[in-house]
Amino acid sequence: VCMACVVVLVVDQYLIHLQLSDANLMDVSLRFRREMDKGLGRDTNPTAALKMLPTFVRSTPDGTEKGHFLALDLGGTHFRVLLVKVSCNGQQNVEMESQIYAIPEEIMRGTGSELFDHIADCLANFLDKLGIKEKKLPLGFCFSFPCQQTKLDESILVSWTKGFTASGVVGNDVVAMLRRAIQKRGDFDIDIVAVINDTVGTMMTCGYEDHHCEIGLIVGTGTNACYMEEVRNMELVDEDEGRMCVNMEWGAFGDDGALDDLRTVFDREIDAGSLNPGGQLFEKMISGFYMGELVRLILVNMAKEQMIFQGQVTPGLLTRGSFNTGHVSAIEDDRDNAGLLAAETLLRGLGLSPSTEDCVATQRVCQVVSTRSAHLCAASLVSVLRQIRDNKAAEKLRTTIGVDGSVYKNHPQFARKLHKMVRRLAPDCDVRFLSSGDGSGKGAAMVTAVAYRLAMQHAE
Ligand code: BGC
Ligand code: MG
Repeated sequence: VCMACVVVLVVDQYLIHLQLSDANLMDVSLRFRREMDKGLGRDTNPTAALKMLPTFVRSTPDGTEKGHFLALDLGGTHFRVLLVKVSCNGQQNVEMESQIYAIPEEIMRGTGSELFDHIADCLANFLDKLGIKEKKLPLGFCFSFPCQQTKLDESILVSWTKGFTASGVVGNDVVAMLRRAIQKRGDFDIDIVAVINDTVGTMMTCGYEDHHCEIGLIVGTGTNACYMEEVRNMELVDEDEGRMCVNMEWGAFGDDGALDDLRTVFDREIDAGSLNPGGQLFEKMISGFYMGELVRLILVNMAKEQMIFQGQVTPGLLTRGSFNTGHVSAIEDDRDNAGLLAAETLLRGLGLSPSTEDCVATQRVCQVVSTRSAHLCAASLVSVLRQIRDNKAAEKLRTTIGVDGSVYKNHPQFARKLHKMVRRLAPDCDVRFLSSGDGSGKGAAMVTAVAYRLAMQHAE
């Protein structure tokens, strides 16, 4: 037997609880479906882990939208400001200009007013640069956190996720906070038309290209999905007609204990050391903000058990955040020895002297962690597919999922594994995955454009 095969077997044995069988995944999918029902029901919603939030987005672009729109995109890898120009001469055309701004960690974790002042500063800088400070443009705000909405332009933060903890924002309307920060400056004015989640932006952006698109999925810093639900099934909305997009906030799946039997000691350790212990437990098993850290914790445990690195643990290896999702992607690069070389470089950087076996073991740990992530996403997606299929009473569902996020786009095998597992668990669904070009920012502008068109029609 080859050396690498033995190492892989040993790692697989050690991580046996991270390897979910098809039966495990079907079971996760069933539990998820029950949680969806709970979130949709009026009486069960208050105690449901999945909040199934109404978005008040009812229609996808119809192709007649036009105008210039601003968009803000907060909550992913980067904070961005965009100007989106939608023109419509027979065929719709979208042009964008955008600028990435840094949000320093002390602002992410400071006070809410500092955060919104910073956002207003960036917006002012952008408008200055483009020389459009005098125009009062409509703006769409892609704010990628769980929010309670009662209309399109009001959005109350339920809880922070990922790396944010700014004080005084939870329980408040982020539109009002942004308006206040802009008024305080007094040097420009804008018309905030819509707040949307990034999943919704992604669905809208892809819906523009493919009219079958009725699901939006993000696997990036965080993870989440939205889909078009029948309003009659949404007991929190006092209407019965038509469809509305539901922001599921699926990262919170398991927060009520529903996944406790599948969560490992490593998952518990990640949660305990996080900024929001007890929250977003499903997200912590899946998304980019945690993936590298999960690998690092496993390596530390394996080293302590003398399985790798000759039992050595260095300060570098013990440093939280020294292993990130970009590293996981690089280590799983399967072209020649690129991945193993990346492992060696990273481990040396952490002060270790890895053997070839250590590098193979590290690569395998990455594979097990990212595969579980892809398979868990597949399991929850299958529940959404089944829900839509039942709503349509369709024998076979033909649908499109719009996808965005750094893990989905940058990890070398994630997308393939996700697609394969969805098709295996839901052979009765014919699914197209459409990767969105810049889902959140463009999507926020598209929602704004649609809202603007509808407002103009009402005004006429
Ligand atoms: C947030 C969601 C968001 C997802 C992807 C999660 O942490 O709660 O609102 O859609 O990240 O960005
Ligand atoms: Mg994004």
